[in-house]
Amino acid sequence: MGDRLYGYAGKIARIDLTNSAVELIPTSKYVPEYIGGRSVCNRIFWEEVQPGVGAFDPENKLIYMTGPTTATGIPTGGRTVFTGISPNSWPEQYCWSGIGGWFGAELKFAGYDGLILEGKAPAHTYLYIEDGDIRFLPAEPLWGLMVHPAQKKLEELHGKNVKSIVIGPAGENLMRNASITTSNDNVAAKSGFGAVFGSKNLKAITVRGTGAVYPADIKKLYALRKKMGEPYMRPSPVVREETHGMDQNAIPVEGGWLRGQVACSHGCNQHCCRLMMNMKSAFGDARINQVEKCVGIFAYGFQQDCSWTPIQSFETEQNHFLPCKMLSQEMPPIDMSDPHVTALFEKVPGDTVNYWKPDFDKGSVMMDMCNEYGIDKWDVIVWFMTWLSMAKKEGLLDDLDFGMEPDVENEEFVKYFLDMITYRKGKYGPVFAEGMARAIRTLGKEKYGDTIYRGRFSQVKPGVRLDLPVSLETAWGHSYHWQGRGFEGSIPKPGWLATSLELMTSTRDCQTVEHHHQKYEEYLQFRGDPCHSLLLVDGVIMNQNKAELKDSVTSCEWQSPDLFWPEMEAEAFTAATGIPMTERQLNAAAERSRLLFRAILMRNFGRDRDMEVGAVFPSMQYPDPWGETVSWEDWNDLVDLYYERRGWDKKTGWPTRETFERYGLKDVADALETLGKLPS
Ligand code: SF4
Repeated sequence: MGDRLYGYAGKIARIDLTNSAVELIPTSKYVPEYIGGRSVCNRIFWEEVQPGVGAFDPENKLIYMTGPTTATGIPTGGRTVFTGISPNSWPEQYCWSGIGGWFGAELKFAGYDGLILEGKAPAHTYLYIEDGDIRFLPAEPLWGLMVHPAQKKLEELHGKNVKSIVIGPAGENLMRNASITTSNDNVAAKSGFGAVFGSKNLKAITVRGTGAVYPADIKKLYALRKKMGEPYMRPSPVVREETHGMDQNAIPVEGGWLRGQVACSHGCNQHCCRLMMNMKSAFGDARINQVEKCVGIFAYGFQQDCSWTPIQSFETEQNHFLPCKMLSQEMPPIDMSDPHVTALFEKVPGDTVNYWKPDFDKGSVMMDMCNEYGIDKWDVIVWFMTWLSMAKKEGLLDDLDFGMEPDVENEEFVKYFLDMITYRKGKYGPVFAEGMARAIRTLGKEKYGDTIYRGRFSQVKPGVRLDLPVSLETAWGHSYHWQGRGFEGSIPKPGWLATSLELMTSTRDCQTVEHHHQKYEEYLQFRGDPCHSLLLVDGVIMNQNKAELKDSVTSCEWQSPDLFWPEMEAEAFTAATGIPMTERQLNAAAERSRLLFRAILMRNFGRDRDMEVGAVFPSMQYPDPWGETVSWEDWNDLVDLYYERRGWDKKTGWPTRETFERYGLKDVADALETLGKLPS
């Protein structure tokens, strides 16, 4: 890689919490073959964590990696990733969680591309990293503090220039939905890794770096900034909004509210996050600012699921942008000369679900509690609260004495419930602190999970009631997301078949990094018979590989995949590192990473076809807004096509030796063969 290192900082620090010891590993052991980010994590986990380890065991390794673009100034490079065994997936499995903020860039300025967190500290501990110096410090001044007070305390202790990631009380108390949080409310939340921090007695990591990270090609970097920024890059002044939310969830806000748009992470020239100013706090009278995006909108009112328009998934060259831009209110102008423009922007209204009426202040309180306790907002809004609402309406809560009348429309109950589960109080705190998937099973799945909620009505077939289980559960201990039912349920069958295939081969709700995108002209070809379409399968594989790259190069869900600029990630990689890379080569690296993920699941967690088909198929037996489901035969035909296209054995779902070797993973194939896990 030459004398001067471009893109990478050059070292990964292995942090042995049990013995307060540090070992430095050259990043070049893994790159460029494994790119960076999640891809490097997958290789390390494959080499170092054997079967039989649980999420809270000291042997579980939480691996944190930046990408080669992190800290170079390439937009989206500030995104970083954690991987490890997730306590929040059902059953526990290897998983990942992306996180933005400024911590990753600062870590690289200190000289590290990543951290391998292993063992368990003998007492409450936090790490202080100052360039080459990594210290294990007693966390007593921090333990018990909520997220922002902990961030503030670290600044008091180490100066304003440090960047920290911390857990709140939820992580300390091993709540399985606990997040790890940056100072600007960015979270690694989906996998519950905050609880893994807690299990290791690790409260926080604080870093100060005074070095530099050099991009290889500064001219290309400028060009990328310009091109990736268009047409969204524009000043985002603070504006006063009179209403909040959309459709039936819209709320008139008396006196208005103040909104700004801010970037989520270091170096980005986009403004994807809402800065909500002067909001109501859950803790005292002081008004607060919050940074939110996406699902947070529904905290304030949830009468109707997200609506959907084809442009959100299926795009033309004239009209293509990633749908979350709409949430940022940063949409480019629509090209009306597009022959498909009418169909592309035709709105499919979300199902009416009647979970809770709009209440701006209550929504703010709910968000504040998630931020401060360090809980995954997604699970709170789309799972705990929706379950409470549905279960109450179906009379399921009559036998459960929470110590307060359950009512998700009552701000005091929302506070009471989140406090109860965060601190594991009373009879039901410990039950729900295990997350909804486990809580439902503890309470009794037949009654508390499978009971049909009778309050969901289609708006594409007005007045038609649609069965929806109160569990809202899909697969791997996660709730519906862009799957034709539940949250963002108005996507039609070809779309939810694609997202279900993505979910099936994953270990969590992967839609936060794998929203399905494909060309509209392809959609027109497969929408009549999606279960027998190689085009759809190729679209799934493309989205999965791009997701791998988003967490490896890094890029992000707000920017990728750009269907009409597929070389974007390869260009960013080369600009950062100086290493020539074509789109095709980078796609092969994504395949390699994906295969490692598959191999880990096979070896450590028994993954095979029966397991994953059995996990996801039941969730598609409830009707989508059109009343559609998928038959066992059709679903298995689609799975066959997918496995074949991936080079996996159709019977077992295991990749063949030839497939592993094509991507340079002979050693992995050999190891799996020894275990009897290579297709014969
Ligand atoms: S989410 Fe937005 S601000 Fe964050 S990295 Fe992506 S494009 Fe940049």
